[in-house]
Amino acid sequence: MKTYIVGNWKLNFTVGEASIYLHKLLTALPNYRNIEVVVAPTAIALQPLSLQVDRHKIKLSAQNAFYRDYGAFTGEISFSQLRGIADYSIIGHSERRYIFKEDDKMIAKKVEAAIRNKVMPILCIGETESERAFGETADVIRDQLVGGLSEVSDDDIDKVIIAYEPIWAISSTKSAKLATPDEIAEVVELIRKNLADIYGEKVAENVPVLFGGSVNPSNAGAYLTVPGVNGLLIGGASLILNEFTDIIETAKRVRS
Ligand code: PEP
Repeated sequence: MKTYIVGNWKLNFTVGEASIYLHKLLTALPNYRNIEVVVAPTAIALQPLSLQVDRHKIKLSAQNAFYRDYGAFTGEISFSQLRGIADYSIIGHSERRYIFKEDDKMIAKKVEAAIRNKVMPILCIGETESERAFGETADVIRDQLVGGLSEVSDDDIDKVIIAYEPIWAISSTKSAKLATPDEIAEVVELIRKNLADIYGEKVAENVPVLFGGSVNPSNAGAYLTVPGVNGLLIGGASLILNEFTDIIETAKRVRS
């Protein structure tokens, strides 16, 4: 299986800055065939960057989109509009869940719309600090996974990526803590167990599961060697070119 290194730029970079960053990244990176490097710029930059990118080296991801293809939904963009522009879309990021109040029902519709439009969903799931403290992690993971995948058939589950992002480990969260490899391994196992319950053992093994939460060049190697982890979703460190390329080099080193 490929190793996925996904940079989530969130609400950062103008279109011009995003284009310059992409140019530098394309220049810095060889074509690592077994590493899928993906960047998720702000929506307005996706179309121009899609004309600039070399898809052999880097793929583009949206950070979000709406589940209806067209209509009276002021301010939204649709997965049908992303078709051919973005290969991936982050869906259900904790910032969407908690700031923009997206629930599992809406997230499930987005996952379905993404697949229908040939955009691969990166479904984010993860517990809050207090849910972990109250021993609710397993329930939260199950609910978000079952909820988010509720419209994905057996035939389509191979078109989905799961990202485990414990909210307490995301760098922008107040007093963020680093997740330990053991904590991640435990939840990734749980994710695969839940996937196996719904789709069967074989399928569960083949769904890529990424980890995200304060990943940087010094901890990327340890996180990439956690059993069952197939890649990383990176926020803050993906905004700094040297850090992002260091993480990609680390992936190349530890995964080949
Ligand atoms: C994220 O927001 O998806 C994320 C993982 O951010 P960071 O790497 O900054 O913790």
